[in-house]
Amino acid sequence: MNKLTSYTIKEIHKSFCDKLLTPTSFVDLCIQRARQTKELNAFINITNEEAENHAIESEKRVYVEKKSKPLDGITIAIKDNFCTKNIQTTCASNMLKNFVPTYDATVYSRLIDSGACLVGKSNLDEFAMGSGTVDSIFGPTRNPWCYSEDWRISGGSSGGSAVAVASGACVAAIGSDTGGSTRNPAALCGVVGLKPTYGLVSRYGLIPLVNSMDVPGILARNIDDLTIILNCVAGPDILDSTTIKKEFKTIKINKDIDLSKIKIGIPSEYYCEGMSEDVLDVWRSVTDLLENEKCQVSTVSLPHTSVSIAVYSILNQCEVASNMARYDGLEYGLRASEDYSTEELYASTRSEGFNNVVRSRIFAGNYFLLTRNYEKYFLKALKLRRLIADDFKKVFHGDNSVNLLLTPTTLSDAPLYKDFTSKHNREQCAFQDYCTQPANMAGIPAISIPIRLSNNNLPLSIQLMGPMLSEELMLNVAKKIETMVNFPSLEV
Ligand code: GLN
Repeated sequence: MNKLTSYTIKEIHKSFCDKLLTPTSFVDLCIQRARQTKELNAFINITNEEAENHAIESEKRVYVEKKSKPLDGITIAIKDNFCTKNIQTTCASNMLKNFVPTYDATVYSRLIDSGACLVGKSNLDEFAMGSGTVDSIFGPTRNPWCYSEDWRISGGSSGGSAVAVASGACVAAIGSDTGGSTRNPAALCGVVGLKPTYGLVSRYGLIPLVNSMDVPGILARNIDDLTIILNCVAGPDILDSTTIKKEFKTIKINKDIDLSKIKIGIPSEYYCEGMSEDVLDVWRSVTDLLENEKCQVSTVSLPHTSVSIAVYSILNQCEVASNMARYDGLEYGLRASEDYSTEELYASTRSEGFNNVVRSRIFAGNYFLLTRNYEKYFLKALKLRRLIADDFKKVFHGDNSVNLLLTPTTLSDAPLYKDFTSKHNREQCAFQDYCTQPANMAGIPAISIPIRLSNNNLPLSIQLMGPMLSEELMLNVAKKIETMVNFPSLEV
């Protein structure tokens, strides 16, 4: 059974060939695991019927037609802010509790077209606003590395996706990443989490949080699996005008990458207050590992990092204020019974439909966008965002440039639920997203890789960031790190 938390796509496909497993028997095992681990609350909805139907199709292709697809029989979970046709899509919010989309998100349809089997829709913070998966109307998601009464958060907002992968209920999962929501839970749950270059993977059907930063993210247990999934979902999409038009070239993992040709930068501004000793130690030890492999490591500077959290927060709230205007009780989603006037209907629908976090972001966003504040906050934040992106351009393309940056993903291992929730959402995010949100503002790719367990026996990870469309290099270096550190899979 332990194998469920360590199986690779390659091994599963080999087991199909050897008839040790079949797509339907494997899907059954994963559904069973999802049910056995129900107390982790990774899933909002376990989609056993879809999974079984997808598995039957895979079984036909594998054994009868002998024309397998790259993800035949591979179980996946999709964060519940991606539209799935005829399957309830809630964003973990009362507002969309009964919403059943009439169309599929592109990432989902590409995965299914590649043979994947949908095990379930995974839990998240309401509308993906958070870093803990603690603010869902379906309750928080627990970290599978700690089963004690004093339990730990899974990270977020794609905590359900990370837990589903770590606990063996599926092989890979899709999250969304606006400020770190894929990398953060990946780091706290000991799986790999990729935030691709903005526009590399279609956002069509991803219910928007911050359109200018949102990207679908991928969570998997190892780099090879993650790369296979990325190769299935990436590339232009006529349904999303912000996708990069250039043809996507399949990414290859080359076992013998020569690290002596790679320059790694360590941004000095990422040493920050509150970073735990464990995290610092992991950061140092991975730096040492890379140096031992003859990587050229140097300290670099990203001078605008200190304002990044504030800028992210302002821009996030402004886009949220505009995005959430679609939930008015008229077109779809919740409709409050209070309809004395249109204004009354809007107000009561939104106060019943949204939690405090969503409401306060709408409120703050509208404040920043008032004519008298626009220049002072929104415009200023946009200018600073450009400077943050330029910092990255300089280190990747200027004098003494580096190929990749190495930083921690989170400032600590998974916090206790009770400690985490004693803080306001804004404070939680300011701490949790410190190392992750700059990549979203610059649009560059970033990946979190698990390294070792902390003194609390919880996963610790590091992050690589690279220039636009450097996924191939980043994944190859990540693979090398993965091989050197040999992170354990979860014992269940
Ligand atoms: N914690 C951040 C926020 O709440 C990031 C969320 C995300 O990436 N979806 O905005």
